[in-house]
Amino acid sequence: MSWKNIREDTKKAGYEMGSGIFYKLEEGDNEVRILCEFKPFGSHFNKATNTSTFCVGKENGCPVCKEGIIPVKPRFLGYVIDRKDGKIKLAEFGYQIIKQISDLSNNIHWSFEEFPDYDMTIIKTEGAITSYNVQGIPDKHDITNTEKEELEKFITTHGTLEENISKKKQVQIEKNGTVINEELGGSPTDEDLEATDNIPF
Ligand SMILES: [Zn+2]
Repeated sequence: MSWKNIREDTKKAGYEMGSGIFYKLEEGDNEVRILCEFKPFGSHFNKATNTSTFCVGKENGCPVCKEGIIPVKPRFLGYVIDRKDGKIKLAEFGYQIIKQISDLSNNIHWSFEEFPDYDMTIIKTEGAITSYNVQGIPDKHDITNTEKEELEKFITTHGTLEENISKKKQVQIEKNGTVINEELGGSPTDEDLEATDNIPF
């Protein structure tokens, strides 16, 4: 087991990384089924330290907003099926991916309302700036009844999107050590919407 490649080596040894409920995009093609509309929240990504801070809102004493150096950018939370292992997961995407999914929903050939009846490929290209390209997979089909049941089970076990965002917020509030009101913080501005999605998953 080498220190430099601990993740790859552990995987090669056949062990699952992480808790398994969070969707991770890997370099190259990632096939995924979007299961719902996504919910936005604000986040500060520090490139230097490679860490994200959930934004509880300036009005609620977000320390990163107060510093005023790293802008708040929108992140979006939703449920997906990871086609790699067929499991339901919580996915957190930046605007770059969400915008392309929205574009598909507005395209005459790929149009959908709440969720699509097709899978998508998200191609991740790592580099100085990580970029993502989202494409529809033409083989259209609804998710199976088993998958529907799995989704319901997942929500019962791991919570609704709102509950998950509240949980993130609560954890951040404890870190910030401030008392705040009930308002969800970090509403994105137009400026933020040109976000480069440079956050590793
Ligand atoms: Zn903030």
